[in-house]
Amino acid sequence: MALLIDGKKLAATLREEIAAKVAVLSARGVQPCLAAVRIGKDPGALSYSQSQAASAAALGIEYRLVELPEGQDMAAATALVAGLNAEAGVHGIMIHLPVPAGFDGVKLQQSIAASKDVEGVGAENFGLLAMGGAALVPCTAAAAFACLKSVKPDLEGCRAVVVGRSAIVGKPLAMLLLAANATVTQCHSRTRDLAMHTRNAEVLMVAAGNPGLICAEHVSPGAIVIDVGTNRVQVAGLDGRTTSRLVGDVRFDEVANIAGAITPVPGGVGPVTAAVLMGNTVQAAGNQ
Ligand code: NDP
Repeated sequence: MALLIDGKKLAATLREEIAAKVAVLSARGVQPCLAAVRIGKDPGALSYSQSQAASAAALGIEYRLVELPEGQDMAAATALVAGLNAEAGVHGIMIHLPVPAGFDGVKLQQSIAASKDVEGVGAENFGLLAMGGAALVPCTAAAAFACLKSVKPDLEGCRAVVVGRSAIVGKPLAMLLLAANATVTQCHSRTRDLAMHTRNAEVLMVAAGNPGLICAEHVSPGAIVIDVGTNRVQVAGLDGRTTSRLVGDVRFDEVANIAGAITPVPGGVGPVTAAVLMGNTVQAAGNQ
């Protein structure tokens, strides 16, 4: 049975490190501040901002939920982000997605100043990461990488396969692996014979958003499997009722019998991602 990579435990360790950095900054009279912009009434964004507020408070980070008043348009949202860019007391900015019709969430993210782009979703941080510079790394990619490093600190020369090539997860993950001197193969929906590639992996990182995509035949014995996928699926119970469940891209039950180490979903990459956002906020405050 594979070693279970416990994301909650790893996140707790990261939070201890972050709290120590917050203490150093506060001794210099700086309290890191994260401003989260919410537009509309998406219930997911509401619960996400509540949990962010609690995480920030526990770390001594100021959390400011900035809500665009109803009836405002994209121009007002852009002006709101510009105001936060200019405000010295705000060190990090993020936009809660999804945004309502009529707003362009990606455009708003791209309007965040690179030094305050704590989700690492802007073009400048992406470019810095690609060039090996001091970037604010996209949170999920950084979290998946931290899960991997917790069981395999030395990636020199290792065969790593990333399934997924999105700009916020798959590509930055591949860049992190390359920077650590792994030999990286990147797969996507047009890859022919996915299993042929994934079976060759010593490290398999999956971020496809495709529940159960990776099964036993995709994994070689002893491989480290990091499952970024977070998919809500409906499951029929014995009583005939359907319930909603969170599952990854990896069929945990079968792959855990083959892999050397594996992240569960939930409880793997997810909790670490939340901690990385706080860590990036503190990093941004330190840089500024
Ligand atoms: P995207 O939909 O943007 O990208 C998915 C990628 O997977 C694409 O590159 C796509 O290929 C590839 N893909 C899809 N199906 C297949 C397939 N059958 N075989 C091979 N490749 C495939 O998703 P994200 O990158 O934003 O997110 C990926 C997953 O990570 C999702 O489940 C998401 O919910 C989760 N996630 C988890 C977070 C966390 O904190 N744990 C945070 C953010 C995301 P192509 O480019 O050809 O279309």
